[in-house]
Amino acid sequence: MKKINESFICINCGKEIPLANKTCRNHCPHCFVSLHVDGEIPGDRASDCQGRMYPVTYEIKNGWMKILFKCQLCGKEHRNKRAMDDEVINLDSCIKKYK
Ligand SMILES: [Zn+2]
Ligand SMILES: [Zn+2]
Repeated sequence: MKKINESFICINCGKEIPLANKTCRNHCPHCFVSLHVDGEIPGDRASDCQGRMYPVTYEIKNGWMKILFKCQLCGKEHRNKRAMDDEVINLDSCIKKYK
């Protein structure tokens, strides 16, 4: 068995999150919270803000769900595609909870 070390502990719910394959996903698939680490380009890790990003809304375009996140610290917004293992069934209640 190959061990995959690329995982992180969710800052919000404390679960261990394996990084999704082939995406630059960095949000938690359970509670959808992430850290503000990206600059202008998703995945560039160019920001040193480190604020928490919460989901605020989502849209479905061409069959793909895109989630809009907003940084609680600096107010920056960014969109991210859902990952295949996201528990999107929780997303509505998460968005309501964080408001
Ligand atoms: Zn979480
Ligand atoms: Zn920020």
